[in-house]
Amino acid sequence: MKSIILILTLITFISCQRTVIRSPASIQSERKISIVFDIDYTIVQPATDLNDPDVILIESEHYKVNNWAREMIESLSRHPNVEISFFSGGKKDRNQKLLREIKMNTGESFLNIAGNVYSYSDLHQVQEEGRFSERLKKDLKILDFDLERTILIDDNSLFTHEGQDKNMLWLGKTYHHYEDFNKTYADIGNKKVLQEFIPENFQQWFLARNKLKFVHELIEDAIRSEKTSTVGFLDFIEANKKTYIPYDEKITSRYRSLFSKQFFNNQFTCSRAVLSFK
Ligand SMILES: [Mg+2]
Repeated sequence: MKSIILILTLITFISCQRTVIRSPASIQSERKISIVFDIDYTIVQPATDLNDPDVILIESEHYKVNNWAREMIESLSRHPNVEISFFSGGKKDRNQKLLREIKMNTGESFLNIAGNVYSYSDLHQVQEEGRFSERLKKDLKILDFDLERTILIDDNSLFTHEGQDKNMLWLGKTYHHYEDFNKTYADIGNKKVLQEFIPENFQQWFLARNKLKFVHELIEDAIRSEKTSTVGFLDFIEANKKTYIPYDEKITSRYRSLFSKQFFNNQFTCSRAVLSFK
């Protein structure tokens, strides 16, 4: 009996010691952060060029995986306290098939690393009338996410549930993907293509195709901020999103500096693009 009491006392002592030596900052940084990615027009979008090697065919639809999506998901998934989920208004079966086909450099699929995949049936209906994203919301609370530590990244801010504005990171205006800015001209007047999604100038085109790089920078810095300062994950995003995400569609020195000179110069491969940028 004495030895049992001694062991219990020792366990209690060790537990207390662990609690005492942890600083509040380290406890905070170990708590789970949830990052929830929308899929359509966030991770992928309908392909405009079927010859693009980065196009995936699922249920007779061709999807282009957006630039930087793989690098971003792979990098974020390396953080031990970060859980990545996906939430699309598409059907569960389609979402899972699509995420299974998107592979990172490690060979793992997006589906493999996902904590959860939420779909149409997980949307929360808030009204009978209106557009899809006005009637149905991505309510993070009823899905049991910690609203203090969850960000939903989406091209459509209408999906935000009431009271969860701080949990939504809007990507900015949506555009179709064009590998080359000059290819946009061929689609002007094409009735099969949503005209409002065609970039009108080089800046719109350049920033749109790289937007996940800007999102990635913001999220990584927010994770870092929480570990190294008193500014929490969501507070950092809220305070800095307008600096990181080019909502005003202007290429500034900040955006240039994120890319190597060679990468940036390669974007200026044709005279029309150069003229448009000037
Ligand atoms: Mg979307």
